[in-house]
Amino acid sequence: MITDRWLTPPGPRLTLNRGQQLVAAVLVMLLIALVAIGFQSSADQNAYSQHSARSEAATTNTLFTVRDSLTYIDRAQQYLLGVVPRRDVQLARAMLAQRLRVIATNGLTAADSTGPDYRAALAALDAVVAKAPPGLLPVGQRDQWAGTILPRSEALSERAHELATDNQVEQHRMDRLAERNLLRGRVVQLAMLISALILAAILLWWVSANVVRQYRSARKAFDDEREVLRQTEFRLDRVSALERGQAQILERIATAGPVSSVLRQIVQLAADVSGAPAVRMSIGRRTVIYPPGADVSGTPAWTGVVTDNVDGSGTLQVFGDAEALDELAHTALVRCRDLAVLSLERDASARRLSYQASHDALTGLANRSLLLTRLSKSLLLSRRRGTPLALLFCDLDRFKMVNDSIGHAGGDQLLIEAARRLSGTVRESDTVARLGGDEFVVLCPELPDRTQALALANRIRTALSVPYTIDGKEAFVDVSIGITFADESTVSGHELMREADVAMYRAKLTDGHHINVFDSTLEAEVAQRLDLDAALRHAVERGELRCSAQPIVVLDTGVITGFEMLLQWHRPGLPVLYPGAFIPLAEDNGMIVEIGRWVLHETIQTLAQWRADGLALDLTMSVNVSPRQVRETGFAEEVLQMLAAAGLPPEALMIELTEHALVDLRVAHPTLARLREAGVSVSLDDFGTGYSSLTQLRTLPVDQIKLDRSFAAALDEGDDKQRAVVQSVVALARALSLDLVVEGIETIAERDTLLDLGADKGQGFLYHHPVLWDAARALLESGGVCPVPSDGGYTGLASSENPSPSESTTVTSQLPSPSVST
Ligand code: C2E
Ligand code: MG
Ligand code: MG
Repeated sequence: MITDRWLTPPGPRLTLNRGQQLVAAVLVMLLIALVAIGFQSSADQNAYSQHSARSEAATTNTLFTVRDSLTYIDRAQQYLLGVVPRRDVQLARAMLAQRLRVIATNGLTAADSTGPDYRAALAALDAVVAKAPPGLLPVGQRDQWAGTILPRSEALSERAHELATDNQVEQHRMDRLAERNLLRGRVVQLAMLISALILAAILLWWVSANVVRQYRSARKAFDDEREVLRQTEFRLDRVSALERGQAQILERIATAGPVSSVLRQIVQLAADVSGAPAVRMSIGRRTVIYPPGADVSGTPAWTGVVTDNVDGSGTLQVFGDAEALDELAHTALVRCRDLAVLSLERDASARRLSYQASHDALTGLANRSLLLTRLSKSLLLSRRRGTPLALLFCDLDRFKMVNDSIGHAGGDQLLIEAARRLSGTVRESDTVARLGGDEFVVLCPELPDRTQALALANRIRTALSVPYTIDGKEAFVDVSIGITFADESTVSGHELMREADVAMYRAKLTDGHHINVFDSTLEAEVAQRLDLDAALRHAVERGELRCSAQPIVVLDTGVITGFEMLLQWHRPGLPVLYPGAFIPLAEDNGMIVEIGRWVLHETIQTLAQWRADGLALDLTMSVNVSPRQVRETGFAEEVLQMLAAAGLPPEALMIELTEHALVDLRVAHPTLARLREAGVSVSLDDFGTGYSSLTQLRTLPVDQIKLDRSFAAALDEGDDKQRAVVQSVVALARALSLDLVVEGIETIAERDTLLDLGADKGQGFLYHHPVLWDAARALLESGGVCPVPSDGGYTGLASSENPSPSESTTVTSQLPSPSVST
């Protein structure tokens, strides 16, 4: 982190040490002394000058003092200026003071002026002056008096002069003394000045030497500091380059930049910050070298391991002088290594996410979104190149049942296996997608014609219908496939998907036709089918469902031994619908449970009514039951309660379950065991269409076998193999003490053959169509026998009340075969 300390480095700082301070103090004191001496000297000079001036004045004028007057004579001694009246005391005192001042001024002492010569001269003068008149003399008298006074005055002057001369010698001596003193002072002053100057010079030299030395060391410290600062700045630059580069790379990683370019950036950053001449990163098949083409043949100076879960592990290697890599370089390289790991992980997880977003989690196949993307692209290509394109919509039959019976985990395994088989059947260029549940779509961008598409669909069907082994048990599903082709009029992938879906739906509803190619006429029909789903939900409450009963008879006599309950849907104003058209729908949407409950209740109530009326006393009512009903909790108790409530013995009821249903339910289902234990019989419906082998029959919890009507039909065609099969079923049923009922007997020939083969019970249009309750009751009332025509057999005619399924409507889709197994 950059601090102010680094930004503003201090310059060299000069401070005086103690010695310097002492010398400076001495110097200051010397200067003060010099100044003081200077002052003193000028004072002496003044005093000397004044003294000289005074001496001069004394020699220039003479003042004489007389006892009672004052006479002043100038040097020229020409004039006596005045005489002061003597008896004026005040004035006399003032004159005395004046005289003393004059004496002092002339360098004379009072003693001098009292010398005898001087006194005598003075007295003489005084005596003359005393005689002179007071005041200013008139001009005429002056010369006279001057002649008198002046000789005395001159005498006094002589005396004074002598005194003064004596005094001058003394004065001269004094002057010489003063001069000597002055000279001595000057010499001392000069010596002191010189020594002060020398001292100052020494001090200056010493101070300057000291300052230079201090400056140099401060300069060196400053340079050192600047170097440290420069290095720190350089380091900071590298740190900030690392931080900046790292931030940019992180941003690119965060914004999912292409991994190869991010790795290039990382390698460049590693080279820039470490200062290494060459850096190489190798991960899997990826290698990045910076600078491009640099020599990376030697031993790396630094190696960091880059682990990537997808491509395995790799390395970040730095070439050059290992010594040159400082601590920051190492830190930078470790960071670059971590960034590379992060980038690879990010890339892997982005790829994973994108894969997850476009693939089905369970099977790994493409999902709807990927399929639609590829479909759109294929459509464009197909249009541009004029090549065909086919879409196959595959839906597993009976998967829901299987899923319910083997559990969801088992169902998932089955789907995974189905997906694997599907992928193995198509070409590399095809796309197999799972739309969810048991729906798969195959997109074939290059299928030249309808024949090839059908062949592929058949291959798919063959592959998918091979039994699945789930948790050691076998499960069976089939598949319905709808095919559609793109042509110039195809607008979008969605449209194509819908067409394939419609074709598949139609295939599902058409018994035995598992593969269907879309044509536009199907659409309305399928839409109608979808409406059916909504309508069925209200059918029970609106009372539109009816039970029809088909007699089960003794083959040779036609005596009725029981009835099979078969549902019909009477929609107001519309053709009657038969079970094949809506039972799969009810199975799919779960309504079968409610519908089945209603059929059971209706059957039991009707039988109870009949028995109460003395009819059907030893007849058994067979009710078709869906495995979903059996799986409902409390189903067995509910059935037994219904029987008990109606006062019927459990033996009066038989429930029919198809082979598929039984296998799906797992053979020993507790509900079936409970019902059988109570006396309700279980019939194995549509035997021969499923997958259980004859030997498996022994283990199934059933009391009756209903041989599928396809066997009876085949007998009519005189197929020997079929005869043998039927014969063995008859034998097996007998061996296992199982009741055998042959379904769908339509002709006398079939009946006769069956009789020949040892079968004794059956049902079919030869004897009677399924009829509504009233007609069934009428049958019982009229003796309980179905009359068998002596020749021919079923001609397709039926009573108007109970139309044959094939006559009830002209819409093919509403004429499902009874054995629709979806
Ligand atoms: P299924 O149990 O095998 O019923 C026999 C089917 O064969 C009935 O068709 C019946 O009308 C038909 N049939 C009888 N004799 C002949 C004949 O001589 N020739 C031909 N071609 N067909 C004959 P339906 O009524 O269409 O029923 C079809 C299937 O619907 C039934 O097959 C049964 O599996 C199921 N089903 C019917 N009613 C119910 C029900 O109430 N609940 C359940 N869960 N399924 C039902
Ligand atoms: Mg049945
Ligand atoms: Mg049947």
